[in-house]
Amino acid sequence: MSRSVGTVTIAVEACKGCDLCIPACPPAVLSMSIGVNRNGYHHPELHDGCTGCSACLMVCPDFVFTVYRAERSRG
Ligand code: SF4
Ligand code: SF4
Repeated sequence: MSRSVGTVTIAVEACKGCDLCIPACPPAVLSMSIGVNRNGYHHPELHDGCTGCSACLMVCPDFVFTVYRAERSRG
């Protein structure tokens, strides 16, 4: 059995706080920050459980996400 595991980097200063990525994430591992970036926008923060599905990458109009994904065996 295998499952995908992943992570993302978030270029918080490029974020415009539109919130589109939050509901787009299937495992719901993104939430908006309490604090704001230099432009005054809340930005997403990553929690455990990213699958590397790239949904956030595809929905973000400002190219904030870089996605890393790997297939891992689970015994
Ligand atoms: S790659 Fe998928 S699982 Fe990971 S944060 Fe983005 S939408 Fe969520
Ligand atoms: S979709 Fe992109 S611009 Fe919008 S809140 Fe998420 S990271 Fe920021």
